[in-house]
Amino acid sequence: EQPLLDIRALETQFFTDDGLARAVDGVSYSLAKGETVGVVGESGCGKSVTALSVLRLIPNPPGRIVGGEIVFEGTNLLDLSPAEMRRIRGNDISMIFQEPMTSLNPVFTIGNQIGEAVRLHQGLSTKEATNKAIEMLTLVGIPEPARRVHEYPHQLSGGMRQRAMIAMALSCNPKVLIADEPTTALDVTIEAQILDLMRNLQSELGTAVILITHDLGVVAEMARKVVVMYAGKVVEQAPVETIFAEPNHPYTQGLLNSLPNAELGAVSGGNKRRLQEIPGIVPSLLNLPQGCKFASRCPKAMAVCEEKEPPLEQVGADHLSACWLNH
Ligand code: SF4
Ligand code: MG
Repeated sequence: EQPLLDIRALETQFFTDDGLARAVDGVSYSLAKGETVGVVGESGCGKSVTALSVLRLIPNPPGRIVGGEIVFEGTNLLDLSPAEMRRIRGNDISMIFQEPMTSLNPVFTIGNQIGEAVRLHQGLSTKEATNKAIEMLTLVGIPEPARRVHEYPHQLSGGMRQRAMIAMALSCNPKVLIADEPTTALDVTIEAQILDLMRNLQSELGTAVILITHDLGVVAEMARKVVVMYAGKVVEQAPVETIFAEPNHPYTQGLLNSLPNAELGAVSGGNKRRLQEIPGIVPSLLNLPQGCKFASRCPKAMAVCEEKEPPLEQVGADHLSACWLNH
């Protein structure tokens, strides 16, 4: 079966004063209808830039998509006009962010913002749009929706705002929801509620989700397939059980090893599971090494690793990894 969304050899670059940054360097992954794909990696590895590229929201300049295809339902989104792309963003693919205040407009009421989104795209009257907004706020579990619909973003708590943003993103009934660190700013209790909400909505509405996170605990709970990114590339991809049981790439192994005390964190409340730093730093995208991008931090690095970049290749059923140890 054809995937719903197929990202193929995507390359997105930023032309900066200090040089060329290859933020996304040949990334491929796909999303089936109704599926959740978790995209993990430390910050700056290209997870968000890949997502923004899918929506064609890369600021140009300094950014540019210079290669690859983004095939959604058989159409390469990179071939669409800006107007056609706006339709896709309003109807088929929507995105939620870590900080709702960046996508909620402070000067409009919640109802106004959700209502406007559906009014524009579904041609509803103002009254119908307000009713739709109330319906969406109810769906995402906001209490007293008929009152809240007239409130402004600053009048809601952080968890409420996140729910309102999810309501806004889902109001157009998208086929794909891209969630970029949707719960990172929330405490663990609210995080659990929001993840529950996303799971329920997904099974009710059949929305496919790209979940971007640095938190492997979140991935374990939500995703079916996991894509691990490092320095602008996919270094490993596998079903979630495989990633946890038989991680192949030393970077993935490092991420898993740095995942202790998940329960302790939950018990102490507010102390969230974070990827502890794997020793060493992510190489600058402006000055990437020619071999394996992880070589400077890899406990298993060999001479070949510094010379040649390992290709992403099959290492098991539905399992891809890019490491010379497999040769
Ligand atoms: Fe480590 Fe070499 Fe594998 Fe890169 S290719 S992850 S440096 S062993
Ligand atoms: Mg990010």
